Amino acid sequence: MSRIALLPETVASQVAAGEVIERPTSVVKELVENSIDAGARKIEVMIRRGGISMIRVVDDGVGMDRDDALLCLERHATSKIRTGADLAAISTLGFRGEALPSIASVSRFCLTTREQSAIVGTRVEVSGGRIENVRDGGDAPGTQIEVRSLFFNLPARRKFLRAETTEASHCEHQVHLQAIGHPRIGFVFVQNDRVVRQLPATENLLDRIRDLCGAQLANELLEVPEETLGGIAIRGFIGKPGVSRSSRAQQLVFLNGRAVENSVINFALREGYHTALMKGQYPVTFLFIEMDPAAVDVNVHPAKREVRFRDHASVREAVVEITRRTLESSRASWTKTFAKPAPQPLGSALVPSAVSGVSPETLQNRLPQGGGKLISESAARDAQHGTRDECATLSFAALPLQPSSAPPRNDTTFHNNHSHATAIDQPSSRNDFRILGVLGKLYVLMENASGLVLVDQHAAHERILFEELRRRMETAGVPAQRLLMPLTIELPPRDADWISQNISTLQKMGIGIEPFGASGVFKIDALPQFLRHGSGGETEPLQLLRDIIDELRQTSVNTSKTRLGEDVIATTVCRHAVKANDYLREPELVRLIQDLLRCELPYCCPHGRPTMIQISYFELEKKFGRKV
Ligand code: ADP
Ligand code: MG
Repeated sequence: MSRIALLPETVASQVAAGEVIERPTSVVKELVENSIDAGARKIEVMIRRGGISMIRVVDDGVGMDRDDALLCLERHATSKIRTGADLAAISTLGFRGEALPSIASVSRFCLTTREQSAIVGTRVEVSGGRIENVRDGGDAPGTQIEVRSLFFNLPARRKFLRAETTEASHCEHQVHLQAIGHPRIGFVFVQNDRVVRQLPATENLLDRIRDLCGAQLANELLEVPEETLGGIAIRGFIGKPGVSRSSRAQQLVFLNGRAVENSVINFALREGYHTALMKGQYPVTFLFIEMDPAAVDVNVHPAKREVRFRDHASVREAVVEITRRTLESSRASWTKTFAKPAPQPLGSALVPSAVSGVSPETLQNRLPQGGGKLISESAARDAQHGTRDECATLSFAALPLQPSSAPPRNDTTFHNNHSHATAIDQPSSRNDFRILGVLGKLYVLMENASGLVLVDQHAAHERILFEELRRRMETAGVPAQRLLMPLTIELPPRDADWISQNISTLQKMGIGIEPFGASGVFKIDALPQFLRHGSGGETEPLQLLRDIIDELRQTSVNTSKTRLGEDVIATTVCRHAVKANDYLREPELVRLIQDLLRCELPYCCPHGRPTMIQISYFELEKKFGRKV
């Protein structure tokens, strides 16, 4: 049955026109999208020599009758929209009716297609846009499109192609993207006659992610349970706090089944992660957003990767909120892994001592050399992005956990009061982990049911302090201490503006600052009490202020103001506090861990670096050759 019609001239002219076919991966994209739109259950993509010599896409979708097989080669011939009104709510991947004629005009093209119920199908051969042969064909129902000698008639375009291996990797990436976006479809990717990927259809997105990206990445993900906010449904998987990449390569977002790149979503993800993401890093996401097709315009760019939202504020809110909730809820699952009761002695060189009793120093001396190396290697791998140099020179004290004038710990204003109570909150919970000692004055070694846990004291302390500061700001404010000599500072207009906008936050944070006389001049007469200040190289008010401005400068672009100023300032202030510390004793060590486990996001510091790393028995056994 024929389905395709030529778009009327008026509609055709509204379609975002442009060059769709730039390189082999564009062909792969268009053909695979057509197969998906055709309801395929299985799609096979085959390329040779980076797709330059051949691309073949075979599907088991609806197929076409002879009329359609010929009509689909005309410009603006499509079965997916009919009128201008349809353009306003597109629910298919394609709609422009341009891909096949464009591809056929720059290659030697062969379409073989057969409708599911037809006895015989059609084969059309086209060369450089000219139909050369039409005959019966099609062994199996579905469609096969073969594209050979891409750009054979456009030497200028061909010259712009990269090395075959580069083009091949772009093609593979495209298949990868479509396969993640459509796990219910089975995919096969064949390169130079070798099967590179074979992905069975699955109902389970995580299976597809595991098949494509490996079990290690799959284990680093948190499920985003499907939730609808303001008419926007979001589900999928995102990286646990502290999991990130230096590029957006693994930040995949699918909008109504289409892989998209959109700055609103990018910024919303960054905002949702907030302190769980290191500066300059990008989240890992496999996020599926479904919304009314009428609320989004995909007719912006010929390649359709860009989209525009009618109401971008609600998209942003939904993404921020759901990301934030997912990261916070992960705390519960984290507690399950980390806070399981530790079994009794390991039977290895790292025999644990009870939580109380032995001082960290003594334990440290007992650690075997090899153990230290093993751990630092593994830690370095797991925490690829930690700035360990900075940490290594720092030591730690419990001081800022409880400022001298602060009420005792059982006072509720100081106590963590969030609702996720865990086993660690109970007195008996000390047995949930065993502290083994401290490595290099920085890493607390602990044992839990799963194996070894390393805690970066410095990062842990920053996280605790950060959350503490935030809580205090919401309640009574942070106690301030007056400076003996108030200071004045003159700032350039933009910096002065940032400070003015955030002045109440600064004051709640215990920084006594106010405008002073001329515009751009401020007076500072107090600092948070827990920052040791005065002479002796401790926190210098002007430096603190400069750091805060720098942070604001970096984060303020394009992100909403909600809490952001507060968080930025708290992050900077607590970094200053941690630097002023000295050595950690055993009871403080225990307190540190308990306080950390009470945090909302215990597993990374406010800059997104990991606070703790689990090295499982399994990993240890593999390292020691007990398991292969
Ligand atoms: P669009 O996808 O924008 O409609 P294309 O040029 O990519 O434009 O395809 C034109 C038409 O050809 C489609 O609307 C569809 O009806 C038909 N078609 C293309 N590929 C397939 C396929 N693999 N299976 C069935 N029909 C197809
Ligand atoms: Mg198409």
